Amino acid sequence: MKEYLYNQLSRVLFILLLLSFFASCASKQLTIIAHRGASGYLPEHTLESAALAHSFGVDYIEPDIVLTRDSVPVILHNIHLDQTTNVARLFPRRKRVDGRYYVIDFTLDEIKKLSAMDSIDPKTQKLSYPPRFPYGKSQFRVPTLVEFIELIQGLNKTRGTNIGIYPELKAPEFHMSEGKDIAKIVLPVLEKYGYNQASANIFLQCFHPPTLRRMREDLGAKMPMVALLAENSWKESSVDYEYYKSRKGLEEISQYAQGVGPWLGQLVDKAGKPNGLVKNAHALGLKVHPYTHRSDNLPLGFKTDQEFFKFLKNSLEVDGIFSDFSDRAKLYR
Ligand code: CA
Repeated sequence: MKEYLYNQLSRVLFILLLLSFFASCASKQLTIIAHRGASGYLPEHTLESAALAHSFGVDYIEPDIVLTRDSVPVILHNIHLDQTTNVARLFPRRKRVDGRYYVIDFTLDEIKKLSAMDSIDPKTQKLSYPPRFPYGKSQFRVPTLVEFIELIQGLNKTRGTNIGIYPELKAPEFHMSEGKDIAKIVLPVLEKYGYNQASANIFLQCFHPPTLRRMREDLGAKMPMVALLAENSWKESSVDYEYYKSRKGLEEISQYAQGVGPWLGQLVDKAGKPNGLVKNAHALGLKVHPYTHRSDNLPLGFKTDQEFFKFLKNSLEVDGIFSDFSDRAKLYR
C-alpha cells in the first residue's frame, strides 16, 4: 500500500514538473512588434500595412508619430516627407533650403493629397530596403494617429483580439524647436482611446529618454514606456546614448520606463557574443525589445529566420523584437 501511494505521488510530481517546464517554455516566447506595420509586404506606416500585421496576430503594431503644421499627429517614419511620399512631385516649391520637405510645413489637408510609398534615399533615389511592394503601384495615404488607433481597435473588436499599439514619438526636440510639444499633443489622444493606464496594451517609445521622463513625472503618463537607444553618430537626439547604455543610464531609465529598445548591434561585442546589456537591463527589471528583424536582410552570419530567432532567444535572451516580417517572426518566436 505504502509503495503504491509512493508511486502515485511520484507520478503526480513528475506531471507537475512537466507542466511547469512547458509553462516556462511558453513564457519564453518573444513579444512580436510589427515594425511600421507589415512593412516587409506593404508600404510602411499605411493603414493597409497595419491591417495586414493585425491579421498575423502579432502582439503590438508600431506607428511612428510626427506632427503636421496644424498640429495633427500623423503616422510617418520621420520628420521629412520626401523619403516615403511623392511630395517633391506634388509640391516642388515647398522644400527648405536644405532641399528637404518637412511634415511640419504641411497641413493635414495637404498631406492627405500625397501618396505613401516604400522608403527611398532622397539623395540617391534608391530604395532603402531590398525591393518589396512594387514601387509607386496601387494607392496608399498617410494616416493620422486617430485613424490608426481606430483601425486597430476596430479590428480588435471584429476579430475578437486585443492587439496592442507601440507608438513612437519622433524627434521631440525638433518639434519643440518648431514650437510644438509633441508629448503634450499626443498624450491626450492616447488617453482618449484608453491607453493611458499602467495595464493598457501599449508601449510608448522614444529616442529621447528625457521626454519619457517628463511625460511620466510632469504630464501624468501612466502607460508602459520603452526608451530607444541609438548611436550618437546617428544624431537621433542630443542625448548621450553611451550613458544610457551604461549601468547608470539604464538605472535612470528604470525609474520611469519599463524597457529599452536598442538596435541589435548594441547587444553584442566584436565577436558577436552577448555584451551584458541585456543582463544589466534585466537586473533592473527592464524588458529588452531590439530592432529590427528583416527576413530579406538578416544580420551577417545568419542564413535563415529560424537560426536568427534561436540566437535571439537562446543567446541574447531578449524579450521581444521589432520585425518587418512579423508573420515569419511569429513562426520562430
Ligand atoms: Ca519606429
